[in-house]
Amino acid sequence: MTVDAGPRTGRIRALGIDVGSTTVKIVGVDAQGNLAWHLLEPATPRVEDQVARLLERARQETFEVRSIPLVATGYGRKLVRQAARQVTEITCHARGVYRELAHGGTLVDIGGQDSKVIGISPKGDVVDFAMNDKCAAGTGRFLENTASRLGVPLERMGQVALSASEEVVISSTCTVFAESEVISLIAHGVAVEPILRGLHRSLIKRIVAMIRTVGLAPPLMLSGGVVQNQAIPRMLEQETGEKVILPSCPQLMGAFGAALIALETLPGGET
Ligand code: ADP
Repeated sequence: MTVDAGPRTGRIRALGIDVGSTTVKIVGVDAQGNLAWHLLEPATPRVEDQVARLLERARQETFEVRSIPLVATGYGRKLVRQAARQVTEITCHARGVYRELAHGGTLVDIGGQDSKVIGISPKGDVVDFAMNDKCAAGTGRFLENTASRLGVPLERMGQVALSASEEVVISSTCTVFAESEVISLIAHGVAVEPILRGLHRSLIKRIVAMIRTVGLAPPLMLSGGVVQNQAIPRMLEQETGEKVILPSCPQLMGAFGAALIALETLPGGET
């Protein structure tokens, strides 16, 4: 059921695993801390079995995992008993993004069921953060639920939203009510494109409100699976007036940061 596996591009010296509410990611880094290998799968309810299976796969792919340090992060990190340490997603996302973008600023991580805004100092330290894990509005789930009602595949949602010349205001802030509102709009003959644009706007406004609680220190950086939706960076730029920058693999940043922390435990590993 693996949906994404990257080729191995170097000798793996440390591993990070991010057990998210929606997906599980494993990243391997080489001695220089370069992202050298990864696996990504939808999360299953039996987290411990899934983690054991994925680590076995990692062992086969990297040959020497048994002696390799492993750090776990994400919502299910405490269930990874094979890990030497468990570290919060806040620290790991900041670590991964700072390593790739080499910038302090404001990082926004939008996952399947939570979202976070993290202030990062010019030296890469976390200086402040805000987190929403209580409400699906402002997370991937908000778009997924309603987009499936509209019959638009996840990967095309952003493109369809951006193609709209008009935008419908979605007044419900709750995901469940927004879904009913969308059904009603469709029944009244409103086109899919402006509805989807309005849904994205609603999510973006939630995120911007969170950014304001932390304060925006440019640049605005993004991580998490949802930011692969091209409408998210575009509409965040419009809404904040700030340039938005993305790492090359935004969904892997938590696992990458965890792997970088694992690498530090090796004698002579990078700090
Ligand atoms: P978590 O770490 O909380 O499990 P992720 O950061 O892995 O979540 O993000 C998962 C979410 O990302 C999915 O639920 C989905 O909404 C979204 N997503 C993943 N890939 C895409 C894509 N190509 N386009 C739009 N959304 C995506």
